[in-house]
Amino acid sequence: HAKRGGGNRYQYFSTNMTELALRRLSLENNLHRAIERNELALHYQPILNIKTGKFSGVEALLRWNSEELGCISPAEFIPLAEETGIIISIGEWVLRQACIQAVSWLKQGISLTHMAVNVSSIQFLNKGFSTLVASILAETQLNPQLLELELTESTLIFDEGAILIILQSLNALGIKLAIDDFGTGYSSLSRLKNFPINRLKIDQSFVRDIEEGAENAAIVVAIIAMAESMKMNVTAEGVETAAQLNFLKDKRCHEIQGYLLSRPLPATKAEIFLKNQS
Ligand code: C2E
Ligand code: MG
Ligand code: MG
Ligand code: MG
Repeated sequence: HAKRGGGNRYQYFSTNMTELALRRLSLENNLHRAIERNELALHYQPILNIKTGKFSGVEALLRWNSEELGCISPAEFIPLAEETGIIISIGEWVLRQACIQAVSWLKQGISLTHMAVNVSSIQFLNKGFSTLVASILAETQLNPQLLELELTESTLIFDEGAILIILQSLNALGIKLAIDDFGTGYSSLSRLKNFPINRLKIDQSFVRDIEEGAENAAIVVAIIAMAESMKMNVTAEGVETAAQLNFLKDKRCHEIQGYLLSRPLPATKAEIFLKNQS
């Protein structure tokens, strides 16, 4: 079927596709067993509160060190976990682990104000999600006020009524809700103001060149002002330079998160980091 000269190209394409399919299959098989094999871990990125000058929040970020495949980035395995539904059990593991860690740190006298946990839309929309959150809180005895769930704008574009019911039941538990990567999605502002959201996290793409780029600087300033007017907290993600930090401080951004301050750290290192600050 291939034309003269095109034969090789077809073959190359086909080999490539086979490789991709095999990689996917192997990732999927290993991901199914990642929990029982103890291959998952949470890293924690400290978040600086500008007003208090303290790192009092952390974001839990999932890491997968597969015995067979090595370290796989969340950017690769989270979408796969979502497509296959494995995200339901992984998400539950993440939530429980983060709550257990927060309780342990509080018992050691670390003054944690929020443990942020990323929640996939598949997990959020799964029946009984708020009941699961309630039971993990009861089981771990974490003060609900300290748990903050990070949702993406793409989660909030589904049926408004249905989303509102889930958000309200989560809000009723006393936990906090944040919108992650804010500004990159399509959530409408008229919807947002009806939702019980406590925090906007400004996406790192806007933070990246605020010092030079007038356009991104204006967007960041607008998001901070919007958060203020809706009585929400606002966090900037992906802060890598002192110039970005100074700009955000100057514009009264509440919290800062980024490699400049700390990378996501394994639990033992995060614990030392939080204890040693003064
Ligand atoms: P995210 O929730 O927006 O997390 C922030 C990402 O930015 C993290 O990447 C973090 O390591 C990275 N980051 C932090 N500071 C900086 C910085 O200064 N510069 C740059 N370039 N990057 C920075 P990570 O850990 O690779 O996670 C990527 C994404 O995977 C997360 O984005 C989140 O959407 C998803 N993810 C991670 N853990 C979980 C999880 O437990 N559940 C779910 N559903 N998704 C997760
Ligand atoms: Mg996040
Ligand atoms: Mg983000
Ligand atoms: Mg992200």
